[in-house]
Amino acid sequence: MFTFELIEKHGDHEEVIFCHNREVGLKAIIAIHNTSLGPALGGTRMWTYATEQDALIDVLRLSKGMTYKASAAGLNLGGGKAVIMGNPKKDKSEALFRAFGAYVNSLKGKYITAEDVGTTVHDMEYVFMETPYVTGIPVALGGSGDPSPYTAHGTLMGIKAAVKTKLGTDSLQGVRVAVQGLGNVGSHLVEYLVKEGAIVTVADIDTEKTKAMASRYGAKVIGPEEIVTSDCDVLAPCALGAIINDETLPKLKCKVVAGGANNQLAEYRHGDNLMEMGILYAPDYVINAGGLMNVFVELEGYSSDRAFEKTNQVYDNLMNVFQISKRDNIATHRAADRLAEERIRKIGGLRQHHHGRTARPFSTLKEMTNRQK
Ligand code: NAD
Repeated sequence: MFTFELIEKHGDHEEVIFCHNREVGLKAIIAIHNTSLGPALGGTRMWTYATEQDALIDVLRLSKGMTYKASAAGLNLGGGKAVIMGNPKKDKSEALFRAFGAYVNSLKGKYITAEDVGTTVHDMEYVFMETPYVTGIPVALGGSGDPSPYTAHGTLMGIKAAVKTKLGTDSLQGVRVAVQGLGNVGSHLVEYLVKEGAIVTVADIDTEKTKAMASRYGAKVIGPEEIVTSDCDVLAPCALGAIINDETLPKLKCKVVAGGANNQLAEYRHGDNLMEMGILYAPDYVINAGGLMNVFVELEGYSSDRAFEKTNQVYDNLMNVFQISKRDNIATHRAADRLAEERIRKIGGLRQHHHGRTARPFSTLKEMTNRQK
């Protein structure tokens, strides 16, 4: 398929930029999906894509996802993403990331980058040498550092909203939560849940991590193959994606699915199946937006307290999603998309970029001017 055909097929993107620098071996694509609400923010993924077409499809898909995530989170951000073609273990260099940073800079703040799969805070330091339009830089440079405590806190607020809606209670006291995956997000979530009085069961393929959670928080440990279908009130997926699939669905015993993992539904239709089964699903990109909220605060001049406070917003965002689901009699994952689209339509107009207008002059972003060197 030709490039423009692919772009048309994968969404209504405003701009797709191909970045090439032979000397440093840079082959990257920046996709700006929509800037109706604000500058397009999204991380830079570095990956050994088999073909250029794969890289293009990935960046088109991911940037569109960011538009929806930022909109449903209530942030003044649009959606964008970048991919660098290459092996993150072998092909990294200062020159590569600085050349990439120069491309980001040339977009004058229309696209703001961050780390993602295959890139690190350290790589972003090189990008920062060339452009102020980068977030997720180290705390020492005025950045926000590790986003996972904020993602986990937002997830906790989302669990509360789902429990209130499904079980009719404001408290997590005695609520049985099964947490799958005890990495950066899952381990923080367990800590917060235990503080709230929830009865927490955990699983991870890494037994060191389960042992730590058991000894530190008294969490009950079960096998990784049992956790998803275990008897609980809330299943909180915090490992990999596609955990709600044709195989797991008929065996689910939970009343709520609410966790921090990305892409929890193996296929879109599985969200409808959850609704049919009477299981309340907290759409992944709405409940796990705490990390994005955290980098957004970085744009305003970072404060950890302010970032934690901001993640409380996940509660109201999910309540809105549940309301739309009820109002329109649609599953919650569809309601989340509708919420995101309605906000873009109201505020910016999904198609207004065709008239060359963006919602907010990027130069007014306080920190960007502060960070100009
Ligand atoms: P991580 O790699 O630190 O943790 C993942 C954990 O899941 C690991 O401990 C791993 O051993 C475990 N795991 C893998 N397969 C498993 C299985 N089958 N059963 C049980 N455990 C399993 O990653 P993370 O940063 O904690 O992110 C977790 C999820 O949250 C991912 O889907 C990620 O995309 C999503 N997410 C993370 C953030 C963030 O701020 N880190 C933000 C948004 C979304």
